[in-house]
Order: sequence, then structure tokens, then C-alpha cells
Amino acid sequence: MSEFKSDEARRIARATLPDGLRPETLAVRTALAPSQHGENSEGLFLSTSFIQPSAEVSAQRFANSEDFTYGRTSNPTVRSLEARLAAMEGTENAVATGSGMGAILLMCMGLLKAGDHVVCSRSVFGSTINLFAKEFGKFGVETSFVSQTDLDEWRAALRPSTKLFFAETPTNPLTEVCDIAALAEMAHAAGALLVVDNTYASPALQRPAALGADLVMHSATKFMDGQGRVMGGALCGPNHLIRDVFAPVIRTAGMVLSPFNAWVLLKGLETLSLRLKAQSEQALAVARWLEARPEVARVYYPGLPSHAQHELAMRQQSGQGGAVLSFELKGDSPEQARARAYHVIDSTRVLSIATNLGDTKSIITHPATTSHGRLSEAQRQAAGIQQGLIRLSVGLEHVADIQDDLLRGLSTLNT
Ligand SMILES: *Cc1c(COP(=O)(O)O)cnc(C)c1O
Repeated sequence: MSEFKSDEARRIARATLPDGLRPETLAVRTALAPSQHGENSEGLFLSTSFIQPSAEVSAQRFANSEDFTYGRTSNPTVRSLEARLAAMEGTENAVATGSGMGAILLMCMGLLKAGDHVVCSRSVFGSTINLFAKEFGKFGVETSFVSQTDLDEWRAALRPSTKLFFAETPTNPLTEVCDIAALAEMAHAAGALLVVDNTYASPALQRPAALGADLVMHSATKFMDGQGRVMGGALCGPNHLIRDVFAPVIRTAGMVLSPFNAWVLLKGLETLSLRLKAQSEQALAVARWLEARPEVARVYYPGLPSHAQHELAMRQQSGQGGAVLSFELKGDSPEQARARAYHVIDSTRVLSIATNLGDTKSIITHPATTSHGRLSEAQRQAAGIQQGLIRLSVGLEHVADIQDDLLRGLSTLNT
């Protein structure tokens, strides 16, 4: 039979890691202890419910949402992912959700009520703007949208009812960087919390909690998976928010992560720092190369000295620019610029034309007609999204093949 004596099981479990391990080690090693079988890769517990030893123990566990009872409350594979994420972000705890937007929804449901006010960067992810302005606007939460980089605008937007600052850095697609420590200080002086969407840099490059952010939010769909397979999201923060505020809300509202997706994300996290560093280096090489091309008007990439917040970005992001860049083609009119952007995109034979990012496969996107396609031309101009703008999420193909693929269109622009 396959039963282990309990002391043998404990030897396999190695339940507690030593203190002081570095982030790369935590990304590979943090998880719940293995089962009695001693699996070296974390177990996938694809089970909606968990057998209880007795009615009395069942009653106790239902009263404590940290025990395993039912999948909407917790699951061991999801719990391992949450522990690993918290270790990587340097926070006490984390809660995983079914998508990045699910994480922001959970955050809003847990922290906001009618009459509350939010200050949010104007440059954050489009669905985030809609969630605050439209969906929570319906429930009497007001949101002021301000410049990503102008601290005076954040200060001027403050009201006595301000509960939350929400920022994302770097942003999509123009890679604007905000000063996390300065925003945290301003939010705290006003009695508000700072939430940072850390999807783009990931904890491999940037740890917002160490700079004063109260909560760190993720779309795990992007770099954490890193291979374009599953949706996921998370909030990382202190126990008094994660365990006491958000755990009861997610248990009621149900935007939970699938155990299968959690298992895929656990594997993704093990290679996150290697991928981010390699993809950042490739992105820097592509950005430098694009900056020297005569067809290109401007390159947006935090790793370039020409970027408006280059020094801040290098300080905040472990000296790396990240894997996403944008570039603008020259053009005499918006129509001509768009035709040129389409030509460059359609001439590629290696890159994927898609709207995801953070994948090992490089992805090319035309923001003005996809992510920002529902804005009016005037709103797009105000946001700095020109028709000639192309976004590139740089993957792990050989950098010369990425450049050659872009060159197919760049070298044949004749309109
Ligand atoms: C994709 C994304 C989101 C939303 O995440 P989903 O997993 O798609 O729900 C939020 N913020 C940023 C910066 C993103 O890139």
C-alpha cells in the first residue's frame, strides 16, 4: 500500500523554507508542502470540494476560510500560487482571481462604497477606466482621471472622500512611468490607499510594495503565464486587506481562479525573472535599432535615454525597460500614417498580429484601431495614440529575426 508513516511524510514535506531567500529562489520554491507522495512539481488539485474527517471538523473549517472546503473559498493549488506571488511581491499575502479585471473588481468591491472618490491615472488599461468610470459610476463611486506623470494633477484631484489612488506603470502603449514612492506618500497623507497595477514590469523587475504601495494588482494573463495560455489575476498586500477584506468578498462574489490555471501560472512564475530579463534585453536592442531607422518618428521605451522618465524607470524597474515598446511611423497625415502602420504589421511573417502581450512569441498591435479603437480621434490625439503608432511585445525569438521581420515592411514603405 502507498501509505507513509507520518515522520517519513514530514521528511518529504520540507514545509518551511529558510529565511532570507532571494526572489528568484522564492519564485521556484514557495508553495504549500507536497502531499504524502512527495511530488516535486506542485500538485494540481482539480477538485471542487474537499472531504472532511467529521461533521464537527467540517463546521470548524467552514468558519475559517483558510481551510479547504469548497473551491470558491480556497483550493491548495490556488493557495500555492497565492503564497508564491506574495513571496515574490514581498507582501504578507495574496488572493488570486479569474482574470486581471476580476482582481480590480474584487478590489473595488472590497474597498469602495457609494460616495467614495478614486483618483486614477488617465493612461491605465482601457477596461480599468471603464470599470471605474462606468460600472462603479453606476453605484455612486466617482473617479477623477489625471496625468500619469504630473503629481500636481493628482494632488489637485484630492477630495475629503478620496479613498483610493490607482496607477499602472509602465503604461500601455506609450510606456509612461509614474513615481510610485511619491504617489504612495501623497495617498497616505490624504488617508487614501495606493494600488499599483504591476502587470507590465512584474515582480521580476518592480516591487511596488517596497516603494509604499498598499496593494499590488496583476493581470497574470500576461508575463506571469508568459506563454499565452491562461487568464488569471491577483491582488497582493497585507493580511488586514487580503485575508480580512478581500477573502470574504471573493468567497461571496466568486471571481475565483481555476486550479488548472493556477497550476499553469505556478510553472510560469518559475521562469518569470529569466524571461523578463531576456525579453527586456531584446526589447532594448529592438528599441535602439528602431530609433536609428529613418522611417520611424519616435520610439517609446523606458530603457532608452530618450524616454521622458528614463532615470525614474531604471530606479524603479531594476535597471530594465521591460518587454513592451511602441514606435511611431512618420506620415504626412493620419491616413498615410495608418496605411504605413498597416503595411509594416501586414508584412511580418514571424510576429503574431494579436492584442495580447507578455508572451514568448513577439506580438505586434495597432493600438489606434484595437485597444484604443473605441475612442474618438480627438480623444485618441489627447491620449497621444497616433494612427502611425505600433506596439510591440518582444518575445524570445532571436532578436535579428524580429528586426528582419519589421524590416520587411519598413524597407518597402513607399506611400
Ligand atoms: C491585460 C491587462 C489587464 C486586464 O487583465 P485581464 O487578465 O485581461 O483581465 C489589466 N491591466 C493591464 C496593465 C493589462 O495589461
